[in-house]
Amino acid sequence: MCLTKGSKFYSIINFKCPQCHEGDFFLHKKNWKLSKITALHSNCSNCNLKYMLEPSFYYGAMYVAYALTVGIAITVFLISNLIFALELWESFIAIIVVLILGGPINLKISRIIWINIFVKFDKKHLKK
Ligand SMILES: [Zn+2]
Repeated sequence: MCLTKGSKFYSIINFKCPQCHEGDFFLHKKNWKLSKITALHSNCSNCNLKYMLEPSFYYGAMYVAYALTVGIAITVFLISNLIFALELWESFIAIIVVLILGGPINLKISRIIWINIFVKFDKKHLKK
């Protein structure tokens, strides 16, 4: 199953360390204040992986965030247009509302996806 430890999906959904899937990735897992949402632990508490792989590493997460934003916008447009039969300007407002409300989660998800692209799961770090 793709939701078990060892899949990148598990690390992304649970905000866990990409290498061991045990340690927390974000400092404030459930805090959605804009100043705190992207704050990371410096190292994994379990396997000691350094989360900042290189200086400014997370600028690359912008590409992931962009892709997510486009995907979400297209999805919201299709749903509002095909299922709810909204006008074009109503669909546009729906897209903006969803993107603003989903902004914080988009920031978090894009960062954890970005580090998961570069760091592989290693089962020797799993807790016994
Ligand atoms: Zn770890």
